Amino acid sequence: MNQALIEKYRLHRQEYETQLTQYVQSIAELFDVPVAFLGLSDNETLWIKAKCGTEATEAPLKQAICHLVIDSNDLIYIEDTQKDPRTQKMPAVAGSPFVRFYAGVPVKINNDLVGSFCIIDVKPRQLSSKELRALNNFGTHLGQHCELIFKHLSSEDEHELLNNSPAALIRWQVRPSLSVSYLSPNLTKLLGVALPEDASLFKLEDVIHHDDTDHFLFTVRNHQQGAEICECDFRVKVPGNRSVWYKLVSRAIFDNENLIAIQGLLLNNTEQKYLENRILDTNERMRLLLEASGLGTSDWDIENDTLRVNNRICHMLKLHPDSVDTQSMFWMQLVHPADKDRLISQIGNSLKEPNGVVDIEYRLRNAEGQYLWIETYGKVVTRNEMGRATRFAATHRNITEKKLAELHADKQRRLLGFINHAQNLFVAQKDLQLACEQIFPELIDLAESAYGFIGKMETEDGVPCLQIYAISDVSWSESSKAEYKKFKKGELRFTNLSNLFGHVVTSNAPVIANKPMMHKASKGTPAGHPVLKRFLGLPIQRENKVVGMIGLANKLEDYSQKDVEFLTPLTETLAYLFKAVEVEQARYEAEERLSYLAATDPLTGLMNRRAYFDKIQQFAAENSEPHCLAIVDIDNFKTLNDTYGHPVGDQVLRAVAKVMQHNIRNNDMVSRLGGEEFGIYIDTKDNAVCHQILQAILEEIKQLSFDTDQGQLNNVTVSIGATMFKKGPHAVDTTYFDIAMKQADQALYEVKRNGKASINWFSPSNALKKDGLITGLKS
Ligand code: GH3
Ligand code: MG
Ligand code: MG
Repeated sequence: MNQALIEKYRLHRQEYETQLTQYVQSIAELFDVPVAFLGLSDNETLWIKAKCGTEATEAPLKQAICHLVIDSNDLIYIEDTQKDPRTQKMPAVAGSPFVRFYAGVPVKINNDLVGSFCIIDVKPRQLSSKELRALNNFGTHLGQHCELIFKHLSSEDEHELLNNSPAALIRWQVRPSLSVSYLSPNLTKLLGVALPEDASLFKLEDVIHHDDTDHFLFTVRNHQQGAEICECDFRVKVPGNRSVWYKLVSRAIFDNENLIAIQGLLLNNTEQKYLENRILDTNERMRLLLEASGLGTSDWDIENDTLRVNNRICHMLKLHPDSVDTQSMFWMQLVHPADKDRLISQIGNSLKEPNGVVDIEYRLRNAEGQYLWIETYGKVVTRNEMGRATRFAATHRNITEKKLAELHADKQRRLLGFINHAQNLFVAQKDLQLACEQIFPELIDLAESAYGFIGKMETEDGVPCLQIYAISDVSWSESSKAEYKKFKKGELRFTNLSNLFGHVVTSNAPVIANKPMMHKASKGTPAGHPVLKRFLGLPIQRENKVVGMIGLANKLEDYSQKDVEFLTPLTETLAYLFKAVEVEQARYEAEERLSYLAATDPLTGLMNRRAYFDKIQQFAAENSEPHCLAIVDIDNFKTLNDTYGHPVGDQVLRAVAKVMQHNIRNNDMVSRLGGEEFGIYIDTKDNAVCHQILQAILEEIKQLSFDTDQGQLNNVTVSIGATMFKKGPHAVDTTYFDIAMKQADQALYEVKRNGKASINWFSPSNALKKDGLITGLKS
């Protein structure tokens, strides 16, 4: 017999000995033998359990006669052991206790051979067949008895196990009324309460925490309504004002669908409950954390396209939770059109890539149509066996304030840079239209508008109008194209100010029209003009007076006071630029006037000596060919003045000037050198042409006639000294004019001396030749 059977039947237990010894003794008496025992064996040892007439507790199996019984699994009957070859050499036969008689039968528990029962004598004996049958029966009885002992041990062990187990048993019977019919003793220990002797007096609901009694009663009701297995958790108050969690797993016992009993297994559930609570706690803390952080959460079941969000998101977007659809499309249509592609591509990537996350800032439209900036962080949390994303979880944060502040700061930086740019452009180019045109695209971009214009107030025939310095090309027809071309030439003006644009300058206040057609000043747009969806007009003011305006149109969102405030630095700058343009213009005009005055003789309107000198220098520098210089001097002018008066003299001077101007050609010049002397420059080397011109002048002056208080003044004459002059190689720029003038003067001097009223050409052979001033004419 092997070790496993000894373990199985717990053959080492004392119970076998205590309960069977009496029986073995009785059998020994019956057979009148000195020794009898029950030997239970393993592979090596015979354990002597119940015995009579011996003190031995064990023996090596091989040396025991019993092993013959065990080996043969049959009755062994030996009348004289000393004569039997199987036993005569065995130690118990050959030596003490000198066994002479042996009869043994197998003992079985549940058909498992576990040992033998034997009777022994120290003298040879004989047994009748009846006695041998009885011995066999006794063996069987012993086996059966062992079986009972084993069963008893088993149930006792079970009992023990149950009593020490963390689970206690309760049984309720339903009739006549629901009451406890059994309580396992360990319930006292488990619940920490004293149990009544009479189980039916015990009411579990009495020890359950009053907040949880409903859980238990619910279970009972469920069983009454047919549930077979139920579970419920409840607390029981234990000393020290603590509560301990228990779980009751109960099973209903029915008889023809009638509930007759409930069996329950009660377990201390504190640990599990602790873990459960911790998970709940953690979840709750997480929830509170999300709540406090203002985070929205979403969970997208991709396969079923079900997207669930927490209330925070609804709150964020001012959506009623009931109005929220669970399809992802519902959320997609709220995304700002400009952000949609970016968002879709990020989500797409994160679905594909195993570790891909979505981390993105974009705009979502709220229930009131305003866009909020949202920061979303999310990733795939579940994939199927194929690796396909099946669930996508994300958190969402409203970052509108932060984002708007950032964007505003950024826009302001851009605006300042751009104002600076406009100023630099203007300073560099002195051209307002060019400066306005160059900054214009950026203005449109910064103002998030589709098109617009910049205009400056001007007057046309005393009527105010807007001179356009920059405008978007929205031309849609031949006539509007022509208008744009006009603008390009700096000629576009809006003269009609009784419309929405005009209202900005006539009211001298910003016009925010997010429904332009509804505006009182609106006259609509010309046919073909792009639809005006929103309009913002900003007056450009200087000292509270309107000096121009900016018109902007079709921002994606409504224009607001914020746009007005944002663009104020720009309108202020434009006001300064407009002012600068005017100052520049005035300065230019003053300069022109000054240089005119500086170069002009006020009486005759001819250029003065200085301007004449500069011009001749310039011509001479460009042309090395000879040309004519002449001096025209009115004859006897002093006498004329004296006779007719100074004003008549002035009149004569003006008339003479006119004659000369009239007779010279395009490239020729005439100037008043001073007093009654004039200079003429004739741009040709052809002496005959020059003479002809001078002759014509001489003759025409002679024909002049003036009405004076002293009667008719006729016969005014002039003398002309002339020279064909060429800039000599040695004559420096600053002196050659003087040389030429001296030559003409010399010729004039000669004509005055010789009777006046005629032309005299300078000749190098003249007396002044010797003073060396005319070397330039040698060629
Ligand atoms: P001659 O025939 O030799 O040239 O004699 P003249 O009298 O013309 O020459 P003179 O130089 O002696 O006199 C010039 C006069 O021209 C003197 C001056 O009063 C006069 N005169 C100079 N400037 C003006 C002017 O702007 N208006 C008037 N009415 N007279 C002027
Ligand atoms: Mg003179
Ligand atoms: Mg004179």
